[in-house]
Amino acid sequence: MDLLKEALANPVFGAAWTARGWVRTKRDMKSVVFVEVNDGSCMANLQCTFNREAGLPTEIEAELAKAVTGAAVVVEGTLAESPAAGQVCELAAKTIRVIGEAGAGYPLQKKRHSLEFLREMSHLRARTNTFGAVARVRSSLAFAVHAFFKERGFQYVHTPVITASDAEGAGAMFRVSADIAGPDGEKRPFFGRNAYLTVSGQLEAETYAMALSRVYTFGPTFRAENSNTARHLAEFWMIEPEAAFFELRDNMALAEDFIKFLLGTALEECGDDLAFFDKRIRPGLIDTLSAVVSSKFTHIPYTDAVAELGKNAGRFVFKPSWGFDLQSEHETFLTEEVARGPVIVTDYPASIKAFYMKMNDDGKTVRAMDVLVPRLGEIIGGSEREADLEKLEKRMKSLGMDTNAYSWYLDLRRYGSAPHSGFGLGFERLIQYVTGMVNIRDVIPYPRAVGQAAP
Ligand code: ATP
Ligand code: MN
Repeated sequence: MDLLKEALANPVFGAAWTARGWVRTKRDMKSVVFVEVNDGSCMANLQCTFNREAGLPTEIEAELAKAVTGAAVVVEGTLAESPAAGQVCELAAKTIRVIGEAGAGYPLQKKRHSLEFLREMSHLRARTNTFGAVARVRSSLAFAVHAFFKERGFQYVHTPVITASDAEGAGAMFRVSADIAGPDGEKRPFFGRNAYLTVSGQLEAETYAMALSRVYTFGPTFRAENSNTARHLAEFWMIEPEAAFFELRDNMALAEDFIKFLLGTALEECGDDLAFFDKRIRPGLIDTLSAVVSSKFTHIPYTDAVAELGKNAGRFVFKPSWGFDLQSEHETFLTEEVARGPVIVTDYPASIKAFYMKMNDDGKTVRAMDVLVPRLGEIIGGSEREADLEKLEKRMKSLGMDTNAYSWYLDLRRYGSAPHSGFGLGFERLIQYVTGMVNIRDVIPYPRAVGQAAP
């Protein structure tokens, strides 16, 4: 049982073939009926042509009448060269069976629906060109993530989804709770303490990097972000490599290679899907992605970035100022006007970054790196980690953290400490970047955000 993708890639004209899929459109004419079938394995539909010139059996006419948009069908025929423009191959159809009717109630009758309308239809939207393409790009790049790390000796570690430690204090956390019965039948909290959904697998990944040298995690991540932006979700997927003996430079090089590898894979494996996004969603997309693959990312320390922004202060609502996080208008300026491409900003003020980042000799900045890309801003956040026990303890105490709760984490610095670095890439931000889709809710099958958890 072949998928459409195979038949269309190397069609054997004259060979018998069975198409199984869903009707996209039907054009019923006097002497011919065209049924466009798609099975989701690729962007293209297969045009199934029923020739009526010599008349069609009544059973077939009856099935054709039911073969409306959305119906599931099995069509048998032979592959033939297509005279129509824009397709190499069609199916000279002999029989058709409608195995799942759709009817007039099928919500996706029109050829083009707004993304907003489709957002209310997450269970059906994968049957559209746009969401089918997003799903294929996602799948292709998920495999590419594993291929990239496997080639470089990174081992895949599964860090927990439920955790008792707040990795960065960065994102607000979702609490996880359930009651169990104690010895006297009284209700007790399941974990005996507060537990949460993870905001990052980093701390746990670090423990494995200090044993296996190079590891990565790739899993769901949760942040109770009370923000309604086009680039934040409450549930998203994050890829977090962590490598022992990597300093910030190595980390930056890894991040740059990683992004280029992923974009290169998309260009290679998802050509038709990207062509669609280029035409319908974001003109120039393919050229931009190709240019990034062969570019050199711009590197700029935070202090220099703020100085550069300061020269253009008049253009910003938030005046750039040392010690404050870059606003998205600043990120846009840096990527779209200063670098005209991806930028890695490094050495941020310690005060705006997480406790585990390695302090620079200036005592004010840390070895952080954010990768910013045009139109999205931050896509990666990472750093070299503080490997010195005393310095790390001091920093944690100054932030009012309970060092006892993190004694397992401090053990990494107590026993066999070594320089190590890592970063987090938001998978959905990557998919936004690669597809040109504007809203992050349109690049994950079932988006979770404030007020949205179903279906
Ligand atoms: P931002 O400043 O964009 O909110 P962050 O600095 O809080 O992000 P990090 O903690 O550095 O994010 O997380 C690493 C990466 O995870 C980010 O660079 C981004 O790609 C992704 N990410 C973070 N928060 C979200 C979110 N709520 N939804 C989707 N992706 C996210
Ligand atoms: Mn960040």
